Amino acid sequence: MTDSPPRKLIIAIDGPAGAGKSTIASRLARKLAYVNLESGAMYRALALKAIENDISFDDEAALDSLAHNSRIKIEPTLGGNRVTLDSRDVTQRVRETDVSEAASRVSVHPRVRAWMVARQRELGINGGVVMEGRDIGTKVFPDADVKIFLDADPVIREQRRIQQQHSRGASAESMAAELRERDRRDRTRANSPLKAAPDAVVLDSTSLSEDEVLQRVEALVEKKLAEN
Ligand code: C5P
Repeated sequence: MTDSPPRKLIIAIDGPAGAGKSTIASRLARKLAYVNLESGAMYRALALKAIENDISFDDEAALDSLAHNSRIKIEPTLGGNRVTLDSRDVTQRVRETDVSEAASRVSVHPRVRAWMVARQRELGINGGVVMEGRDIGTKVFPDADVKIFLDADPVIREQRRIQQQHSRGASAESMAAELRERDRRDRTRANSPLKAAPDAVVLDSTSLSEDEVLQRVEALVEKKLAEN
């Protein structure tokens, strides 16, 4: 009898901005030959469309209708996720500070989240996916095979974010303030707030190198694959 191929897992990586999720998710996905899906990019694309159409971030009905009339695509590439909004490449634009802030404002609304969660489930349901975000282990895939909650000291997260975004022209203070406010909003919203799922493995990356975090995550994945 031949061995059956390894099962394709659903791996959820949640955590606040600057904890290192994107880097770990994309490196892990590459190693496993899985798809890396950055769920935050979908909220960012919708937020960009709201900015461009002058839609209030507080108008849930208008945002819900905007979402239903949007084609948001997240395509994994070697350089990270390529984001398209209604067939337009918005990969760079959605990383800017105004869009980050808008994303955390549009994402508080239950109807917006319901639309996003449904799309994200469609994308990941067949497994072979590393999906990162805020609610992947709690809401999108509560039965994910591996759940990681990646955290780090807020000061370190701010520093990392400032380094990452250095070339984008925003001041260090404004970036730190934006990150703090976004964190506060993401953690305190009523609907799917940012928190670790009860069965997630919490990894604090404050004093770990990227390679060390990756090794720990890989060990969890290997353990899971060995169970199957
Ligand atoms: O992950 P990223 O920083 O790109 O996410 C941008 C914003 O989108 C977050 O601050 C959060 O408000 C929202 N988000 C969310 N749920 C997710 C992913 C992102 O609410 N699964």
